[in-house]
Amino acid sequence: MKLPSTSQEALAGDSGLSSLKRAKREASFKETLVKENKVNRLGIMGGTFDPIHYGHLVAAEMARSKFKLGKVLFIPSGTPPHKDRSDISPAGMRFEMIVRAIQDNHDFDISALELGRKGPSYTVDTLRVLRRTWPKHELYFITGTDALREIFSWREAEEILMMTEFIGAARPGFDASDFLLEVQREHPETQRRIHYLEVPALAISSTDIRARVKSGQPIRYLLPEPVRLFIQQHRLYTAEDNII
Ligand code: ATP
Ligand code: MG
Repeated sequence: MKLPSTSQEALAGDSGLSSLKRAKREASFKETLVKENKVNRLGIMGGTFDPIHYGHLVAAEMARSKFKLGKVLFIPSGTPPHKDRSDISPAGMRFEMIVRAIQDNHDFDISALELGRKGPSYTVDTLRVLRRTWPKHELYFITGTDALREIFSWREAEEILMMTEFIGAARPGFDASDFLLEVQREHPETQRRIHYLEVPALAISSTDIRARVKSGQPIRYLLPEPVRLFIQQHRLYTAEDNII
């Protein structure tokens, strides 16, 4: 399709107007293509999210921007294999809190992939499903440096590293440099798939938020307000009325 060479030409007479329309249509088509291209890299953020907080959201946003991810998919775990907590909040509640936390961000999405699974859910199984669902996309798995250090203990770790790039987001209190040196030494073949991401440090954890709720300490500004209200409304993490 021929585009008008100048805006003057586009505005001159009837044919000019229609070419302006054409140009606009063309521009919006291009925008769609750019958007579709953007989705060629898919970020994945797995976790318990009990509850989701600004630490998760900032890590996801910085990863999205630095690695040009079209989307970041939050995938709350069903029964996490690495957690010994038996009092973990129901999956539906953790899911709802994520929905509320990401509602104002078009680049963030949520998947219930692990929720329906019976028994423990393993990252390798999730990645296999995602690989099938998004065959043309590069997958980027985002984790904090605490989780990153454990990846070689995950089920089928080598397989996971064949399927996805890893982004280790700096997390206060968890220095990853010794781990990255070890990877360099012992698993040089996987090294180029592991990326380190500096994020503005937020020493926030779900454990701390749950403890705060339990002891009547404030949680405002540690997580999005709709999530705080949800916790308050459903009296999560406490039997008391004093959620602040
Ligand atoms: P819990 O205290 O219950 O373990 P958590 O705050 O560690 O909760 P998870 O759901 O376990 O949250 O974490 C999901 C992912 O988010 C993990 O990869 C974790 O390393 C990362 N993450 C959590 N908090 C932060 C943070 N403050 N900064 C960077 N990454 C984080
Ligand atoms: Mg954790």
